[in-house]
Amino acid sequence: MRPEPAGPGSVGPGSVRPEPVPPGPVPPFAFDALPGRVVFGPGTARTELPAEVARLGVSRVLLIAGGSAEPVARELAGTLGGRLAGVFTGVRPHVPAAVAQAARREAAVAGADALLSVGGGSATGTAKAVALTTGLPVIAVPTTYAGSEVTPVWGITEGERKTTGTDLRVLPRLVIYDPELTLGLPPGLAAASGLNAMAHCVEAFWAPRRNPVSSLAAEEGIRALAGALASASPADLGVRSRLLYGAYLAGSAFAVAGSGLHHKICHVLGGRYDLPHAQMHAIVLPYVLAFNTPGAPEAAGRIGRALAASGATAAASGLAPSASGLAPSAPGRTPAGALRDLATRLGIPAGLRDIGLREDQLAEAAELIEPAVPPDNPVPAGAAALRRLLRAAWAGQPPADPS
Ligand code: NAD
Repeated sequence: MRPEPAGPGSVGPGSVRPEPVPPGPVPPFAFDALPGRVVFGPGTARTELPAEVARLGVSRVLLIAGGSAEPVARELAGTLGGRLAGVFTGVRPHVPAAVAQAARREAAVAGADALLSVGGGSATGTAKAVALTTGLPVIAVPTTYAGSEVTPVWGITEGERKTTGTDLRVLPRLVIYDPELTLGLPPGLAAASGLNAMAHCVEAFWAPRRNPVSSLAAEEGIRALAGALASASPADLGVRSRLLYGAYLAGSAFAVAGSGLHHKICHVLGGRYDLPHAQMHAIVLPYVLAFNTPGAPEAAGRIGRALAASGATAAASGLAPSASGLAPSAPGRTPAGALRDLATRLGIPAGLRDIGLREDQLAEAAELIEPAVPPDNPVPAGAAALRRLLRAAWAGQPPADPS
């Protein structure tokens, strides 16, 4: 296969090189670096948790867990001995208001002075809901790649409406990332959750509060996530470790940069039409990347180079046809095409119509999204452009730029 020249939007073999700092001045920026201690490593939850809790100076910990992570959560809580003051296992997706209330009551009854969440974004979110009204410090032990554990963002659902907000009180004081705890995540769930983290990274390049530091974390996150997602042995501890590292970077970049066009689209599609969260993110992301590429060539170049350096798109660029299982002729030469190939290989459906969105809902969705588009999105995204983007994503057409 003939290699293509590397350009801003290409994922070509010639582009797999360490990135020099570009010439010229660094653009001015200001941001609030977020506090919090992070402990990362296989086995650390089991070996370090008691000492880390003691280090925080707390003595009455409420465990918050649920779903498939509950058994390991109980095992970890057992290592706290007399410091464990109570257990709340009523975690539900998207933190229903009634669940938040019940968890707050449990914290009061237990006389808790700290909250320990063990699980995915739903467990972390429940602990955050308690911290929001009580100010109790959160210790988070994530078991998926949601990234919520490093953000100050909370969300509570009342009826069908999810309210979100930002408050430093909900930002976990301590995060223990233990890849061993993610070994139980089925490959399909790990892939979907990893692609969700990928969306945080890609979007961080043009989200409203981006800066050079968040972009750096996002770029490294893409490298870690893409390489691990494309691995032929998805349940390997090393692969899970790279996914968790990528998820940490993704959450950190998202926490600083905020939500851009992609997250605004997914917020409407998920909230209004109840589409499955991770699959929806994985389907929409390549279309937003293709849409924004003409207005953000430097970002697209960095995303493309990170994908290529990860090896995930090596086959698509003709480097190693057998390594990722992608056919060398796959149309993955743009970053958007490469991301779509990765999602396809991971079993993500082609279009939004495959996960329940109806064609007659596209126009309404575009109208609902338009007012939420950040004003500095790299490419103007009016209702007509959004309708075209959504139609392509709905039909599962190859992602193309907006021209
Ligand atoms: P989740 O916590 O509901 O977990 C998804 C599924 O994975 C559940 O069925 C759970 O039981 C299972 N699971 C978790 N850990 C497991 C393990 N180790 N082995 C086997 N199964 C396991 O969902 P999620 O995808 O982790 O997080 C999504 C939620 O997080 C959404 O509500 C989203 O809005 C929120 N979120 C919030 C932020 C933020 O900054 N506030 C950021 C990202 C996501």
